[in-house]
Amino acid sequence: MKSFLLLLLLTCSTYAQSEYPQDYFRHPLDIPLVLAGTFGELRSTHFHAGLDIKTQQKQGLKVYAASEGYVSRIKVSHFGYGKAVYITHPNGYTTVYGHLKKFSKRLEDYIKLCQYEKESFEVEMFPGVDEIIIEPNEVIAYSGNTGSSGGPHLHFEIRDNQERPMNPLLFGMEVKDSKPPYVSAIFAYPKDDQSTINGKNERVALRLIPNKTGDYEVEKIKAHGTIGFGVVSNDKLDLAPNNNGVSNIQTFFNGNKSLEVDFKRFSFEEAKHINRYVDYDYYKSKKSKIQKLFIEKNNPLTLFKNTYDNGYVFVEDSTSSVYKMRIRDYHNNETWVTIPVKGELETIVRDSLDISKKSLVYSDKETTLTSGFITVNFYRNTLYDDEYLDFNVSSDTLFLGEDRIAMQKNFYINYDLSHYKEDHQDKLFIARFYGNYKKPYYVSSTRKGNILSARSKSLGTFALATDTVPPTITPINFQNKKWISKYRYLKVKITDDLSGISKYRATVNGKWILMEYDYKTNTLTHDFNDNIVNDTKNELKIIVTDNVGNSSTFEATFFRK
Ligand SMILES: [Zn+2]
Repeated sequence: MKSFLLLLLLTCSTYAQSEYPQDYFRHPLDIPLVLAGTFGELRSTHFHAGLDIKTQQKQGLKVYAASEGYVSRIKVSHFGYGKAVYITHPNGYTTVYGHLKKFSKRLEDYIKLCQYEKESFEVEMFPGVDEIIIEPNEVIAYSGNTGSSGGPHLHFEIRDNQERPMNPLLFGMEVKDSKPPYVSAIFAYPKDDQSTINGKNERVALRLIPNKTGDYEVEKIKAHGTIGFGVVSNDKLDLAPNNNGVSNIQTFFNGNKSLEVDFKRFSFEEAKHINRYVDYDYYKSKKSKIQKLFIEKNNPLTLFKNTYDNGYVFVEDSTSSVYKMRIRDYHNNETWVTIPVKGELETIVRDSLDISKKSLVYSDKETTLTSGFITVNFYRNTLYDDEYLDFNVSSDTLFLGEDRIAMQKNFYINYDLSHYKEDHQDKLFIARFYGNYKKPYYVSSTRKGNILSARSKSLGTFALATDTVPPTITPINFQNKKWISKYRYLKVKITDDLSGISKYRATVNGKWILMEYDYKTNTLTHDFNDNIVNDTKNELKIIVTDNVGNSSTFEATFFRK
């Protein structure tokens, strides 16, 4: 019987490992695998969907296909993944390579045909199964820093056949990690008005006492009623100083499993709910992310497993209990946190909330707030909870609380301009103001008749602003009426105050030319190797338009032979 059980256990664990093909996917670079970011890591608006692989602070490293397959998608965009390739493999998984500097010659030629046909740098293509076959170990691109990337690295993903990103480290790629996760803060939360933690009915920071083994004790708390806990925890790998995400957290109350969070796989649909998972108010005020180890209503995350009572625990009077957290990295190094809990009924010391000047916005039904010529619409399920919000209007300024409440989706701000008499009506936009209210930040605004609308996912102060100044266009590496025969590239700088650049178009002798836009350096670049510019005398014309429709035209003549 004993040996049968053992056999069964062995079979189970072997199965668990081979659930994902091992050694099928290679590391996509030919330098040692060092990570700047791990899978599931908590980013500001999403869970990180892949690995951020370090490229030794360089661009232009060869990027290899992780395995054979075919190119199923190519996307070139100003933001996001910048230049990205998707390869679908015979085993059903798709690998994604982002922030690329450029593609291999074969892909580059394929993409440029599309860019010249569409007359757009930004393109998205879905080649068919037989179109671009990728051989094992084929170089598909060169690493870069394009799109919303803060430094040279390769963003690498593995997605399952339902487009759900998975932790690539489950597939046998090795990264050195001998250190367990570390904990920087622990908090307790009351679930309702009746729960108390150390005499309070609010989030309470608990005193953390590291012990010699690397685990943590927490100073004993007094509590009563239904409560939950939160943790700030990260992991460091051996070869990099980055603070990465952890891979699994389990909680136990008096030895019984209470909740598990497992960062193995998620869907893009749910990734935005990171702001329900972390304590948004704390994140916005302290820039640190508490992971809430309990599930509130309107939280659809599938990262939670094996939960009992949504991770909350009930503390009775005159009891003695222990709550534990087990935090693991993907290498299964683990850290334990032990919190002794003394059940004790206490009178609540509560700061009373003055709601007389606030407006109630519901989560499960539409709420409209109106004052003067401003209306704010919160459609159903915009908020996670019903909330009392500040709502004040003074002239054209809308004070809509502070960015301390997480939103599921955008709310809408509408200005009725029927009686608005200022000049430059067509150059108006809705702006967001931070801090000292000096600089207006453009919020994507649209106008229908007399209604100017903008949508936002964060509360704050908004007002009307006007942008009458067109963009500037300045040549970087050439001068008007000069010879530039030996140049590989043509570069110009484009900038815009206030509303920002919306579109650009460049032609030479009337023919559209591809100019790649890098918003981080405000640069437009044309590559003469595109072989579009073949005349000796060339008339360059670039038109740049900002978000409210101001536009500038730059013209110059250059010569080549
Ligand atoms: Zn990334």
